[in-house]
Amino acid sequence: MLTDIEIAQSTKLVPIDELAHGAGLTDAEFEPYGRDKAKVTLDPSRPQKGRLILVTATSGMPAGSGKTTTSIALAQGLKKIGKNAVLALREPSLGPVFGMKGGAAGGGYSQVLPMEAINLHFTGDLHAITAANNLLAALLDNARHQGQVDLKEIYWRRVLDVNDRMLRNIVSGLGGPANGLPTEAGFDITAASELMAILCLATDMEDLRARLDRIVLGIRRDGTAYTCKELGATGALLALLFDAMKPNLVQSIEGNLAFVHGGPFANIAHGCNSVAATRAALTLGDYAITEAGFGSDLGAEKFLNIKCRAAGFQPAAIVLVTSTKALKWHGGVPLPEIGKPNVEALKKGLCNLDAHVENLRRFGPNVVVSLNHFHTDTDEELEIIRARCAELGVRFAVCDGFAKGGEGATELARAVVEAAADPKPLTHTYEPDATIEEKIGAIVTKVYGAGGFTLSDAAKKDLKRLQDLGCDRLPVCIAKTPFSLTADPKALGSPKGFDVPVQRLVLNAGAGFVVVTTGAIMRMPGLPKAPAAMQIDVKDGRITGLA
Ligand code: ADP
Ligand code: MG
Repeated sequence: MLTDIEIAQSTKLVPIDELAHGAGLTDAEFEPYGRDKAKVTLDPSRPQKGRLILVTATSGMPAGSGKTTTSIALAQGLKKIGKNAVLALREPSLGPVFGMKGGAAGGGYSQVLPMEAINLHFTGDLHAITAANNLLAALLDNARHQGQVDLKEIYWRRVLDVNDRMLRNIVSGLGGPANGLPTEAGFDITAASELMAILCLATDMEDLRARLDRIVLGIRRDGTAYTCKELGATGALLALLFDAMKPNLVQSIEGNLAFVHGGPFANIAHGCNSVAATRAALTLGDYAITEAGFGSDLGAEKFLNIKCRAAGFQPAAIVLVTSTKALKWHGGVPLPEIGKPNVEALKKGLCNLDAHVENLRRFGPNVVVSLNHFHTDTDEELEIIRARCAELGVRFAVCDGFAKGGEGATELARAVVEAAADPKPLTHTYEPDATIEEKIGAIVTKVYGAGGFTLSDAAKKDLKRLQDLGCDRLPVCIAKTPFSLTADPKALGSPKGFDVPVQRLVLNAGAGFVVVTTGAIMRMPGLPKAPAAMQIDVKDGRITGLA
């Protein structure tokens, strides 16, 4: 089989004007960015008619579970059976593209295109967010340098869309008084930034303005919050984010419309594409297929409790992606052995599937388990998973969209149509007015299977500060390892009754949540021993090695 990028480069793309006009967009509703990408501003009076389908997965493993590939396969499969399906996906970050995981535009015959552009600079949204974030940092530090504000704590960090562990903790402003105030500082990855979350959750430009105004940059000597509005930076940030707020339109290999917009990670941020992109997909599709990152404990929990609540979305069905590889990993098989048949380990890992099915059922909407088919899978392995789903009474389909495109996803498409025809109300994990501790408690016990959580001394101080600021009733966005339902990446399967160690509670008042860091989670990833960057090149006028 050809590589992802070879398949992508051999596909003839529909010119973007044709694609947009074909979907009924007027010239006023889209701005082409080159031949195959466009920024879209739909007429707000258009109704959102589509059924929302959320794609999530069982617990992660280092190779990725295939959610993006399955989401695209599903949209193509729905198209094959005569349905109008539109995708809403996240834009990739350069961190994973050049780090461990690689790109995030799907795989095989289920990709969104042009994959090179989508995986690299695309329409510049991530650069715009990075620039806006760092402009705000510079304006804040300038105000401190000019003696206009005196802060005892600074919350606003700089960001970069590159994995770089050297920048996690730095001292900035060295070199004497002309060069600023020496400050302990650091960088997060753009995908984990509050501005990324704000852009993704903002419902329109006015909401974006209100959210930017609310950003808390630090704490003054008297304990009060110093906001972006007080600094006076909101207007400039709005200007930098003006185009980035508009969803990007591209296409799948088989010509589905795909909105690829906003890219927060799901382990260290809230993990789903922008509200604007989801709305656009709901407006133009009878089915809007969206992915939330990592397992149901991470992206899906945040999608359902944060994004759906904030934007009023109601998913009609949820697709839970799993694979023999993911389940074998959770049955204890090391990565190099993961492609080999191992029925015992697979059976052992099924408890992870059980836990995610149970989690999702508590939210209400019907669940479809989608097995992402790898060519190394044996029939015996597939039957074991099919049988377990029958025992659990949950819909099951094999998806071979990687090797066969939409044709390989018609079984999944039919199961999703059936599941979505019977929509159930969404039940959230916690009430909006619960305290932060109650919210963390509800998530760790109901979603992770924990016995409870323990606040570090620093987190206890953070909680007191949040109470003093009157911000202790916000939703929580938990930063946690994707490789386990616990906060320990090595705890495989479906552990029960464990404790979740909470390190810090970080106020993101503009995003409208509190980031709760657990275990040893970092908001700036490092690079692995063999970064994906080492495979990437340009040969004969084409980019090669992107996966
Ligand atoms: P996720 O969205 O869950 O992180 P992706 O869909 O991005 O996962 O897939 C991760 C990687 O695995 C991609 O490089 C993709 O091409 C590859 N992949 C996904 N599904 C398959 C499959 N069925 N067979 C082979 N490779 C696959
Ligand atoms: Mg993905």
